[in-house]
Amino acid sequence: MEAQEPRPCRNVLGLAPYDAVSSLAAIRELPEGVEPLKLDWNESTIPPSPRVIEAIVKFLENAHHLNWYPDLGARRLREALASYTGVPAERILVTNGSDDGLDLLCRTYVEGGDDVVVAWPTYGHFLVFARARGVEPRLVMPPDPFEVPAAALRDAIRPDTKVVYVASPNNPTGVVTPVEEVARLCRGRPGTLFIVDEAYYEFSGVTCTGLLAEMPNLVVARTFSKCFGIAGLRVGYMMASDSVIAHLSRLYNPKSVNALGQVGALAALEDIESRKRYVREVREARSLLVRELSARGATVRGGEANFVMVRVSSPHRLVKALESVGVFVRDRSQMKGLEGFVRITVGTVEHMRDLLGRIDRLLQVEPDLLH
Ligand SMILES: *Cc1c(COP(=O)(O)O)cnc(C)c1O
Repeated sequence: MEAQEPRPCRNVLGLAPYDAVSSLAAIRELPEGVEPLKLDWNESTIPPSPRVIEAIVKFLENAHHLNWYPDLGARRLREALASYTGVPAERILVTNGSDDGLDLLCRTYVEGGDDVVVAWPTYGHFLVFARARGVEPRLVMPPDPFEVPAAALRDAIRPDTKVVYVASPNNPTGVVTPVEEVARLCRGRPGTLFIVDEAYYEFSGVTCTGLLAEMPNLVVARTFSKCFGIAGLRVGYMMASDSVIAHLSRLYNPKSVNALGQVGALAALEDIESRKRYVREVREARSLLVRELSARGATVRGGEANFVMVRVSSPHRLVKALESVGVFVRDRSQMKGLEGFVRITVGTVEHMRDLLGRIDRLLQVEPDLLH
């Protein structure tokens, strides 16, 4: 019988569209005079270094820069990343956001029937990329989701496990998996590819890049979307051994990182001072927020990234109340192990004081909002 319509792949039919609603639409609808506090997606709360805008404007002065393809493979950016990370440029692959890198990893290393392990609860996109390859990852959770998942992973990983994904610091728990634990995992299973997602590395200062020279089965993924403040430009990168890079290069599209993203990322990287200042500020703001929310009776988990987790009896009510005063946060309470938790992005001290001021106004009407 002739098909009535073109059929997508079976693996794709099993997927639901990404359902997270961006707060951007709601932000545009805010009444005049209400300044939005966008604290839902862990972006920087301030614009990037002015040097990023300057570099992009200057780049556009030659209009050909838009009709020509970008620097293939982001060669210049990779060289700058080599001096930033200490990893040779040949072992770095720049991608269209780190999401694109995770997808490339799955397309290169995962196929139907493979065993894939994910340290849960974590960033959900990796699951989508694995499922698109026909694999339902095994979610491994320590007894307490705010615990380092190393022991749970060691127990769960099998000799035939193909890929393991761990975010460190983890989103949304802020938990860092120590470098020695990653080293032990990699050494114990040389046939397994370990992906360490360091999207929040700058806030923790802990990195596994030092292991790359001796661990051929390790990949470290990072992004410019969080501390560098250019989520809108979509730039991420992966660092790995020569052999992993060689395999990824078979499918890698060297045109996929747009020219403005490359120029912006390069400028962001060059402004070391502005990055350091923002990281210092976020750390200070994080302690402030943990302290002040606790003082108001909330149960708060800080962690090592640019967000905190608050546990309340009614997460939905808290999210809605904050929205009514122009604050956008992320309800994470549907995630297994994170019942009751709402994630709040941490930005500058000034933004956090603003947030606390708005919360205090809400508490006058609903005194148990944070309980
Ligand atoms: C935000 C985030 C990403 C996404 O990064 P992009 O570079 O914007 O695609 C990846 N991994 C984790 C853990 C994140 O929290």
